[in-house]
Amino acid sequence: MSHQQITVLGATGSIGLSTLDVIARHSDRYQVFALSGHSRLVELEVLCLRHKPVFAVVADAPSAEQLQAALIAAGSKTQVLFGETALCEVAAHSDVDTVMAAIVGAAGLRPTLAAVAAGKKVLLANKEALVMSGDLFMQAVRKSGAVLLPIDSEHNAIFQCLPSDYSRGLARVGVRRILLTASGGPFRQTPLEQLATVTPEQACAHPNWSMGRKISVDSASMMNKGLELIEACWLFDAKPAQIEVVIHPQSVIHSLVDYVDGSVLAQLGNPDMRTPISHALAWPERIDSGVPALDLFAVARLDFEAPDEQRFPCLRLAREAAEHGGTAPTMLNAANEVAVAAFLQRQISFPQIASIIDSVLNSEASTAVTCLENVFAADHRARALAEQCVNQRGEVG
Ligand code: NAD
Ligand code: MG
Repeated sequence: MSHQQITVLGATGSIGLSTLDVIARHSDRYQVFALSGHSRLVELEVLCLRHKPVFAVVADAPSAEQLQAALIAAGSKTQVLFGETALCEVAAHSDVDTVMAAIVGAAGLRPTLAAVAAGKKVLLANKEALVMSGDLFMQAVRKSGAVLLPIDSEHNAIFQCLPSDYSRGLARVGVRRILLTASGGPFRQTPLEQLATVTPEQACAHPNWSMGRKISVDSASMMNKGLELIEACWLFDAKPAQIEVVIHPQSVIHSLVDYVDGSVLAQLGNPDMRTPISHALAWPERIDSGVPALDLFAVARLDFEAPDEQRFPCLRLAREAAEHGGTAPTMLNAANEVAVAAFLQRQISFPQIASIIDSVLNSEASTAVTCLENVFAADHRARALAEQCVNQRGEVG
């Protein structure tokens, strides 16, 4: 069997590293074609020496020069490129079979779309790209024939619980509802009045998963589940009303599909992203992921509760944006990225994340999306509005 050539966008991140861990277990199947990283140059250098990609992509020319010099000194043949155009090139390159889209946030949109347009097998971790560009993204998948496989553990679980012909329509294949599970994050039981003083460190201390800082804050606010609701609508052609969020604090069931005959199928596993990554990498085959077998006796019990929208207003904001459609999800995502960055920099309080998104969505009407320019215009406008809110709130608070 010839090796599958893989580009890992966002290789230095949590998902990127888990992906490389799985790839390294299967050197008979996979070869790394390109790796990208934005800021952790030393880590990227180590990854390049270990995985020997043809290309590495960094943020800018000075970083590229620095990494290239270090790699040459170490005897590496990896060629270092920089910038968004290079990210798109290594995603769409004719030698590449599979692209792991694991850049965080809107920065991943163009490179992910480049992989999609080139008809690659695209492993989608970068949910923000799909949330921002929804319909255009899915149209591009259909046009190129790209194989889009979800890495988000919930969507990967749903994909595994759906029949292979689900794209005929959920109703046609007998699906009543999708049950999207959520851990509830670190603040599930924090007294509401204490949320105003929680720190970035507390928000990033997720009870079950180890992840990048942005998605960790999103998990604490449950905006992550909101983004996932929108993601699920696009991936599985579902209406927001067909998706119910279920808090399941143990994160052992990764989501469920409820059928009209009363059957409910679930996918279970230890909370380790190497399971969905391995599933998608090898699909439709199965490979060892390095994840230990699930010990149900150690898990002992599975709990479920309904989400509290007063505690988690981001969930309501995301559902409303999903129902509005058009540029509403794009603006929701952009405002959230700005607000989360401001919270991580201690410029605003945790509850202000939701209030900033709320005011951005209230001050700007959603419009139809017919081209990528509409998406970027809405993204930029929402970012500017959110920055204004951060500055105002930062002053008073
Ligand atoms: P992370 O912060 O650990 O890594 C992000 C990666 O993106 C890094 O390699 C970084 O260098 C790169 N990056 C950051 N800004 C960039 C920019 N402006 N341009 C180019 N590259 C940039 O994040 P993560 O936890 O690995 O998450 C990555 C994506 O996967 C996110 O969209 C997240 O929502 C999704 N996801 C993550 C998990 C998880 O368990 N970590 C689970 C489900 C989905
Ligand atoms: Mg998830």
